[in-house]
Amino acid sequence: MAEKIRSNLFRQSREITIILPRRVAATTWLTLLAFLLVPGLASSQINAGEPLRPEWCRQLPRPQYKNLERVNVTDDWFEVYRVRPDVFAIYEPHQFEEVISYLILGSRRALLFDTGLGVGRISYVTAKLTSLPVTVLNSHTHFDHIGGNAEFSEVMGEDTSFTRASIKGQSNIYSRDALAAERICGTLAAGVRADSYAIRPWHISHWVQDGERIDLGGRQLEIIFTPGHTPDSLCLLDRKHGLLFTGDTFYPGPIYLFTPETDFAAYARSASRLAHLAPSLKLLLPGHNVPVAEPVYLTRLLEAVRKVQAGLVNSTVIEGRREYRFQDFSLLLAVK
Ligand SMILES: [Zn+2]
Repeated sequence: MAEKIRSNLFRQSREITIILPRRVAATTWLTLLAFLLVPGLASSQINAGEPLRPEWCRQLPRPQYKNLERVNVTDDWFEVYRVRPDVFAIYEPHQFEEVISYLILGSRRALLFDTGLGVGRISYVTAKLTSLPVTVLNSHTHFDHIGGNAEFSEVMGEDTSFTRASIKGQSNIYSRDALAAERICGTLAAGVRADSYAIRPWHISHWVQDGERIDLGGRQLEIIFTPGHTPDSLCLLDRKHGLLFTGDTFYPGPIYLFTPETDFAAYARSASRLAHLAPSLKLLLPGHNVPVAEPVYLTRLLEAVRKVQAGLVNSTVIEGRREYRFQDFSLLLAVK
């Protein structure tokens, strides 16, 4: 057992740059780092006989969930919340990324905005929530938002070379670390194992355009291309109800802007585009952590991005990233 824990710790320390930032505040990183780097801390955990329970897991559930309406869908991986009438947040609280996908219902069809990690079967959940035909659209094609795409025959996507690479899926060699013990809170979905977990390839049934409208029957959605986090990042706007589904372009937490596919100048332009929408919005529905955020964050995000661009704010360098901290969120950029 100790051997197993040690090997997990080794993996965590080797890949700490990948696993830490999504949702953990900077102060927590330091706690985790101390845990990793001070052998006494690790051995005292082992001696206490406690399961290896990462710091982030101890902080769940997030307080915002108390005020949300939980929908009684029996599933061992997902939790479902009704955020607005006919808008469901499908949340994955048992994995470090705390991914949130959204099912949006019209009178004739439904749209699933992201499909999560592919650990639980999200199509089982959507089938419990609606009998309407479901079309998938991804906020972008990072692995944690596309895991269930292969469960659906109708998947829309943006035509970028990044997307075309993503649709090939991801083998277990690249995927398995997402399910390492320190990234799991509780237990995995039945029948799922880290050593066989992979992202299955899928087909795009329709390539979307910027500004394209999707008519679900009684509910219109509008696609807004917001490249930056990835080349294929997009947001989904429900103008009538003042809802903006932001994916990873904004969520309350450390926002990843350090990977090779991130283009910070493009991200700044997208932030500007979204900030113009803020006055007409009532709610942001982000892709991680919590499914509700005030639209004013889009104004704050643009201010933050401009401050970073102008060199008006200091960063803290942690594990190869520059973190620029603002109220309730931070921007994580690569160290130049
Ligand atoms: Zn992402």
